[in-house]
Amino acid sequence: MTSSWRATVLTLFPEMFPGPLGVSLAGKALASGVWTLEARDIRDSATDRHRSVDDTPAGGGPGMVLRADVLAAAIDAAHVSPDRPRLLMSPRGRPLTQARVRELATGPGPLIVCGRFEGVDQRVIEARQLEELSIGDYVLSGGEIAAIALIDACVRLLPGVMGKAESASEESFSESLLEYPQYTRPQAFEGQPIPEILISGDHAKVASWRRAESEALTRARRPDLWVTYESAPKGTTKE
Ligand code: SAH
Repeated sequence: MTSSWRATVLTLFPEMFPGPLGVSLAGKALASGVWTLEARDIRDSATDRHRSVDDTPAGGGPGMVLRADVLAAAIDAAHVSPDRPRLLMSPRGRPLTQARVRELATGPGPLIVCGRFEGVDQRVIEARQLEELSIGDYVLSGGEIAAIALIDACVRLLPGVMGKAESASEESFSESLLEYPQYTRPQAFEGQPIPEILISGDHAKVASWRRAESEALTRARRPDLWVTYESAPKGTTKE
């Protein structure tokens, strides 16, 4: 199966790619051409003798900031078509959701800028209209791990990557619900049996048990998702 989905990553550490994206589901799909990955070194767009990419923050303060001119040149040199989303991994960004992942997986694939140091000069974010996306309320030392997380989440949704189409439709967040508990053999583990209903063979009962477990888990662990689920007509929620 072929797809033209493509991820273009701008990074100071291209050697971090494909990294974990080179194994298992994503790696097999990469090898078979379901998606392509291009990791470009931002430093190749440096212009001075020292190939410098960063400088001290205007106004003072610790650390270094990625230069607008170098990063803009790196973005321009990647020649990504205008229909591709341009993302900047950033703790200030909108938190990444499964809904956004689904959108990104359906499109042509993004350009992803990985920040380093204290971040990037604000002017390049505006001039190149980068959409800031966060993978959570914590600070990484660079955008690469965030980019890998984002790409991994998208790639597994590409046609032909996951075994069964259903495995994506029932999992966590597919309806603003967390997934129900899963079990497999052995039948008894340290004295704990698999819940009897799951081995009853009654598919309707299994489905309603799973739905009830999903609801209970979501209500207990994620009141934010629970509000979304409860306020939407059943069966239509897309987080
Ligand atoms: N000083 C910045 C943090 C910079 S961390 C601040 O306080 O907002 C360096 C780089 O790591 C960022 O530019 C970004 O690309 C990446 N990064 C760090 N945390 C991230 C997160 N939660 N989500 C996405 N990218 C993140």
